[in-house]
Amino acid sequence: MSHVLPVYARCDLTFTRGEGVYLFDAAENRYLDLAAGIAVNSMGHSHPALVKALKEQGEKLWHTSNMYQIDGLEALATKICDATDFADYVFFCNSGAEAVEAGLKMIRKYQHGVGNPNKFRVITFEGAFHGRTLATISAAAKPKVLEGFEPAVDGFDKVPFGDLDAVEAAIGEHTGGILIEPVQGEGGVRVCSAEFLQGLRKLCDRHDLVLMFDGVQCGMGRTGKFFSHEWTGVSPDITSSAKGIAGGFPLGACLVNERVGKHMTAGSHGSTYGSNPLAVAVCAATMEVMLADGFLEHVVKVGDYFTHQLQQLAQEFPEMVQEVRGRGLMIGLRVATDSKDFVEKLRKKHVLTAPAAENVVRFLPPLILEEKHVDEGIAAIREVCKELMG
Ligand SMILES: *Cc1c(COP(=O)(O)O)cnc(C)c1O
Repeated sequence: MSHVLPVYARCDLTFTRGEGVYLFDAAENRYLDLAAGIAVNSMGHSHPALVKALKEQGEKLWHTSNMYQIDGLEALATKICDATDFADYVFFCNSGAEAVEAGLKMIRKYQHGVGNPNKFRVITFEGAFHGRTLATISAAAKPKVLEGFEPAVDGFDKVPFGDLDAVEAAIGEHTGGILIEPVQGEGGVRVCSAEFLQGLRKLCDRHDLVLMFDGVQCGMGRTGKFFSHEWTGVSPDITSSAKGIAGGFPLGACLVNERVGKHMTAGSHGSTYGSNPLAVAVCAATMEVMLADGFLEHVVKVGDYFTHQLQQLAQEFPEMVQEVRGRGLMIGLRVATDSKDFVEKLRKKHVLTAPAAENVVRFLPPLILEEKHVDEGIAAIREVCKELMG
């Protein structure tokens, strides 16, 4: 028997090395990676600058403790905050779920701090995904994910996606905040409209609620902005981040403005591994690449090209390709078949993607993707469409 807890349905594929947008198995078969470990390998595989940072730091120091100052931490936090339109503080942890948890605690702590300890409830949305801890599965409240783990953590009120009236109606005397992904990932690459997020901001301002975005998947350059909410002109109070933030080194972060963040005083939260020197070094190297001139513009350009090519496929195969949606290099293709089946057929053609809800095939490639890689992927997608259309 396998001694690995059987919580994953793994396919029968083992990769032994990666280079740029490609992964290789032991027999040196090459796969085009258009999923990047679910939006994680933002700089592709084995990016020289990230490898260098990891090696250099690995030979110096891995872990000390948050009891001490950490070399590079202050500079990294400053660089990240300066790259946003709202953040004054960053809390570093190790994963997306932890980053969301930190944000949820910040919402409660803020309301407590301003004299509203009873405003502990948070409004969340159908189709949401925020991680797998008890609080984050309770926040997303998807019955299948909660099954067997009840009772859910109290304090979440779920409303339909994109329905501003439903949000307003759900605001009660115990509501303290709103949590939303500006672009839903697992939910099927559903983009929140600017009007909707603007509406949420107004409601938060009117009722003194904390607006929290979950940018774990759609942030860190994925849509061609550092955080995707920058497309909408709306600033949150809190944003969670992880996945692409350190190109594959496990790291999460929760960004917050001063108004909310100042209530998180010494001893109110923490993490043993969080902000360890190795993670800080690799994240700093990732930020160096991501925030360099022209990088995010490249994401927009290649993303537009990718989307355009997919739209052409939609015209070629209107019965199979029903919709192309997303932004930048976070793209969803809604297909008229089981998206898991579509993903598997693409994998057989050595192109890696990820399924999402609503029969969506998700493309979350490394942000260093080029048009020639898009062409390679599109050729395989066309083949799969042809096969499926018989
Ligand atoms: C992946 C994801 C998470 C959870 O991240 P983990 O690192 O798996 O804990 C949270 N929110 C969103 C939007 C995600 O896509």
